[in-house]
Amino acid sequence: MLWSIQAIPESGVGDNVLHLLMLTLEKYSIGVGDRFAHQAKAQLRACQLIAQDGVDVVPVWNKSNREHSFIGSEPSTVLAAAREAVEALDWKKGWHVDADHIGLKTVDRFIPHSDFFTLDVAEAIGQRAASADVEAFIQRHPELIGTLSIPRIQEPFQVTRTQIERIAGKFLLAVQEAGKIYRHIAGQKGAGNFITEVSMDETDSPQTPTELLVILAAIAEEGIPAQTIAPKFTGRFNKGVDYAGDLAQFEREFHDDLAVIAFAIRRYGLPINLKLSVHSGSDKFSLYPIIRRALPKFEAGLHLKTAGTTWLEELIGLAEAGGEGLALAKEIYACAIEHIDELTGPYATVIDIDRAKLPSAAEAHGWTSGQFSGALRHDQKHSLFNPSFRQLLHVSFKLAAKKGPRYLDLLKAHEEIVGRNVTENLYARHLRPLFVGEGGRTV
Ligand SMILES: [Zn+2]
Repeated sequence: MLWSIQAIPESGVGDNVLHLLMLTLEKYSIGVGDRFAHQAKAQLRACQLIAQDGVDVVPVWNKSNREHSFIGSEPSTVLAAAREAVEALDWKKGWHVDADHIGLKTVDRFIPHSDFFTLDVAEAIGQRAASADVEAFIQRHPELIGTLSIPRIQEPFQVTRTQIERIAGKFLLAVQEAGKIYRHIAGQKGAGNFITEVSMDETDSPQTPTELLVILAAIAEEGIPAQTIAPKFTGRFNKGVDYAGDLAQFEREFHDDLAVIAFAIRRYGLPINLKLSVHSGSDKFSLYPIIRRALPKFEAGLHLKTAGTTWLEELIGLAEAGGEGLALAKEIYACAIEHIDELTGPYATVIDIDRAKLPSAAEAHGWTSGQFSGALRHDQKHSLFNPSFRQLLHVSFKLAAKKGPRYLDLLKAHEEIVGRNVTENLYARHLRPLFVGEGGRTV
């Protein structure tokens, strides 16, 4: 199956007309999470600001099934909040709603309310595909074996048959699973009416550029019109804090991934706008200059999916508001300390908390607004910034959900100061360094 303009075959032109009409994801997009569905306007304002700087970045509101079940929300609320913000701010550019990290078992309730689907097949990675399927894949892809020269990758890949066997064995079943999910959604929404992302980030080991190439060949064969792909990159993408890993190696791999994608689009006829999606991409400040340098070399787009950190800006805003807001923020922290094991357990591989650096509940209880917000806000130059404190609170959003109306009423009462923090964080610390480069102006 073919999707891109340059790959129109002699027969099947009718098919391609459909593909040309496929709902298309814009070149630059930012995945924003809004756990409590109160910040869509403040998030959209950040997109307006970066548009004023001359760069169009469209918002994609994402919420996973897991997140819905923790908060007790329904997918329809994400669409409603997004639509309300778009109307209130008179936003005329694109926007989308992402059913984030869904699988066959969880996708159904998202289908009417989403136009973007992140097919999560991490669980199937490593489950061996049927030997006959692996063998047939290799037979169909002799081009993957031997010396593989990919434009703009300096050293050609040297790939043996054994390697391809191993890679196909590891990933083929996952791609087949993605195909099943894609066809299930297409059967209900109609192909072309939604954007497809394939995510493989929530797995143990990062995927090399060679593996990405094999995965893309398989995705094309499976007939999945993926517009973004989220591999697992090298290094640690801890939630809410900066990247931890080898920057030079990340730069090399990111560059090579872009080259592989550009190559695969032409070679396998994948959608022409296929781009990388960087999951848990918020707060990875040391990567943004690298990403910004790499994209133009390939005229590549980017989807950056943030990690639900907007709720931390809510907490910062409430702390800054003082009074009841600060009191509730401290209460949530005290509860987080008390339940630290159960809160952090499920996130062991995506956080790094140094418990010795955490203030006791009593200590934090005595803090001023400035001390609380200074410890929490991701300003690496601030003397009070405490990444352990930030990460613990990041995984403690369930505690805010438990507060119910008390939390939500405070968000409404302090909408302005909370919103300012949400917008500033997204614009000045994310969109601006990613797409423009210098420090942001004040919101
Ligand atoms: Zn992810």
